[in-house]
Amino acid sequence: MKKYVYSFKEGNKDMRNLLGGKGANLAEMTTIGLPVPQGFTISTEACTAYYEDGGISEEIQAQIDEKLIELQEVTGKKLGDPANPLLVSVRSGARESMPGMMDTVLNLGLNDEVAVGFTKITGNERFVYDSYRRFIQMFSDVVMGFPKSDFERKFDKIKEEKGVQYDTELTADDLKEVVEIYKEAYKEHAGVDFPQDPKDQLQAAIKAVFGSWMNDRAITYRRLNDIPGSWGTAVNVQQMVYGNTGDRSGTGVAFTRNPATGENVLYGEYLINAQGEDVVAGIRTPQKIATLNDIMPEAYNQFVEVCNILENHYKDMQDMEFTIENGKLFMLQTRNGKRTAQAALRIAVEMVKEGMLTKEEALLKVDPRSLDQLLHPSFDAAALKAAKPVAQGLAASPGAATGAIYFTAEDVMAARDAGVKDMLLVRLETSPEDIEGMVAAHGVLTVRGGMTSHAAVVARGMGTCCVAGCGVLKIDEEAKTLTTPDGTVYHEGDWMSLDGSTGYVYGEKIATVDPEISGDFGTFMGWADEVRQLEVRTNADNPRDAAVAARYGAQGIGLCRTEHMFFDEERIFNFRRMITAEDVETRKEALSRIKPYQKADFKALFKVMKGYGVTIRFLDPPLHEFLPHTDEEIAPLAESLGMTFEALKARVESLKEFNPMMGHRGCRLAVTYPEIAEMQTAAVIEAAIEVEKEDGVTIVPEIMIPLVGDVKELAYVKKTVVETADKTIAEAGVNMTYKVGTMIEIPRAALTADQIATEAEFFSFGTNDLTQMTYGFSRDDAAKFLSEYYSKNIFESDPFAHIDENGVGQLMQIAIAKSKPVNPNIHYGICGEHGGDPRTVEFCHKIGLTYVSCSPFRVPLARLAAAQAAVKFPR
Ligand code: PEP
Ligand code: MG
Repeated sequence: MKKYVYSFKEGNKDMRNLLGGKGANLAEMTTIGLPVPQGFTISTEACTAYYEDGGISEEIQAQIDEKLIELQEVTGKKLGDPANPLLVSVRSGARESMPGMMDTVLNLGLNDEVAVGFTKITGNERFVYDSYRRFIQMFSDVVMGFPKSDFERKFDKIKEEKGVQYDTELTADDLKEVVEIYKEAYKEHAGVDFPQDPKDQLQAAIKAVFGSWMNDRAITYRRLNDIPGSWGTAVNVQQMVYGNTGDRSGTGVAFTRNPATGENVLYGEYLINAQGEDVVAGIRTPQKIATLNDIMPEAYNQFVEVCNILENHYKDMQDMEFTIENGKLFMLQTRNGKRTAQAALRIAVEMVKEGMLTKEEALLKVDPRSLDQLLHPSFDAAALKAAKPVAQGLAASPGAATGAIYFTAEDVMAARDAGVKDMLLVRLETSPEDIEGMVAAHGVLTVRGGMTSHAAVVARGMGTCCVAGCGVLKIDEEAKTLTTPDGTVYHEGDWMSLDGSTGYVYGEKIATVDPEISGDFGTFMGWADEVRQLEVRTNADNPRDAAVAARYGAQGIGLCRTEHMFFDEERIFNFRRMITAEDVETRKEALSRIKPYQKADFKALFKVMKGYGVTIRFLDPPLHEFLPHTDEEIAPLAESLGMTFEALKARVESLKEFNPMMGHRGCRLAVTYPEIAEMQTAAVIEAAIEVEKEDGVTIVPEIMIPLVGDVKELAYVKKTVVETADKTIAEAGVNMTYKVGTMIEIPRAALTADQIATEAEFFSFGTNDLTQMTYGFSRDDAAKFLSEYYSKNIFESDPFAHIDENGVGQLMQIAIAKSKPVNPNIHYGICGEHGGDPRTVEFCHKIGLTYVSCSPFRVPLARLAAAQAAVKFPR
């Protein structure tokens, strides 16, 4: 028979997958002899079984009953026995803590009869009815889902009637009255009386905890935090100890170090004569933990000792809950404390100095994703707490932004010129012409598009906060209005705020704080660089972004998207002339005007990267992003091309594609118009030669051909590249080596990698397109329906954000396995957006890539993720 229920004595801290974090740590504290009220944990596997069986099976119920009997024996008390009642708490506890999910029911086991009996034994009627009213309220809220505010209002009313400010001032009789009022309220909501049988209460509470695993809030939380739905939650049933028996009792929460700054001082709060939820709920103002020393020095000293034991035992900063019952200390929970990124770095660095951790251990203590906090503005924590989101989209580029909204890039720029400081660009979707507006704006909000949409990719590159694909918003670009789901209409100039780390949109101004980087950051990242085996490059297509990335430690450029170099107005004009040209001569003329920009940009990139590898990807414009859209854009273009307006309009129409993502882009463009590859090759090689001369560094330019599906496509384009490059080098009379490689972003390329490797010196996995084409999900449209996939539990996360290891990842592995024997010197990188995702970085380390490449602001994150992968899975 499978074991589903464990008493605390039977577990330990390494059983968190089975017992959840809370259960495993309660068991561990029990084992190391700390004062823990006893209880048992119903495992996460029971949660999975609950969903498979559609309820708690007889087998599991029998195990629960058995453990309950055991608990009654250990405590000498009995559930539902008025002469000597056992009361318990029921608390959820997943493998990773998930704040905001279904939480806690306290004082379970109370009913009318037990209350009378319990009063007799304790002689403390006030305490008993205080506990009972708390129980009814929590059961109603947490188990039954009745509105908490309803009960709170009733409680406030009583306090008002009795003329008191705090709950502690209510008398036993007052609280008895509250209990009656609460029971009535329960009946109103439920249609039946408050359950009097403690066994029914317990069963309902356990079911509610399991049921909460699949509520919308939990599903969203898991998706944002990368927690698989398959884990399930455990349930902890624990004997109650009481912090509300009087002035020698209390309850509190504390951290062994300051979670905001990392400073090594005990940090926390407690309340006298209170139960758990009071401290967090802000019912009374809690007191600083140090003052406990004045009131109950013995309990305080014991607590300090326990803190030291726990921190040394777990080798990490602990976040603990405790209760003092009539002067006696009990530990209710310990876990590794959540902390700001700044605190995480300081704690990690200081614990190494204190000799508590090795550098490798310390590297594992910081969540790579938290480093984002250090590089981007974030919301002021107090201001954020008071704010309520009005919508949620995709967390496309981290950071926080607040500002007046504008609906076009031009309007953003006009506002900037008029002296407005804080602006948000709000659009259905962005396109290359919006770039200047995106630079000027603090944040970008789009209704359409996924994690690899134009807005998301470009904003991430610039380090600008972006919420994309917020499909619940309605935008009228003509009327310049935005309507939220509740019907509120926002106009140009109204303030909104965006959280690019959670995807939340707020309909108000929220104060932000600027990032700060401390010396600990440098120390810590230095350790990461010592151990990691993956190189980290950046995706950058302008010197500004490249310089940011270099400052953050990028070892070269893994992807320069050359089509992104044409976002400027004058450049896009000539770029459009080039793509709409009807004959080779006109195209060559347009190209000759583009070449100087390209060369100058390449030079700047080579200079910033000081000899590190720079991979320049040849043009891969999804045509629709670059075609002129309006008559005002077509007219001057026609004139400069010597065409009539009508002729050019017809030409533009003819270039429009039904499915541009699978259309005339990538190497297909260079196959049709080899003169484009010729121009780009000459620009790259000339730039490299000049920078070698000017700066005295050796440069080996890497030219990358996109969207190859067949080796012959690559061979065809490569021929043009090699001829042009060799000619340019010969004419300059210098020696220069260069590399020609390809992106692997079409499934066929991965499957025929042995052939493609005969023509390529490097592979770079373009996992944006590879995901799109492997799943057949449009990069631009998938966000619209993927949310349904999460809520229906088909997908746990966005495959455009975390690599799909089974499918896309398998194609990568196939490509490596097939190409290596053919070309042992080939190097492998990844340049899709996944390159900046910690889980994907770990996967890339495991499958043996040479480097990952990601947007500049994700470089530190990738360095740390690579280091963690190397510690966990040495190559
Ligand atoms: C990719 O497809 O993963 C890639 C990096 O190229 P792009 O996003 O420019 O298509
Ligand atoms: Mg691509």
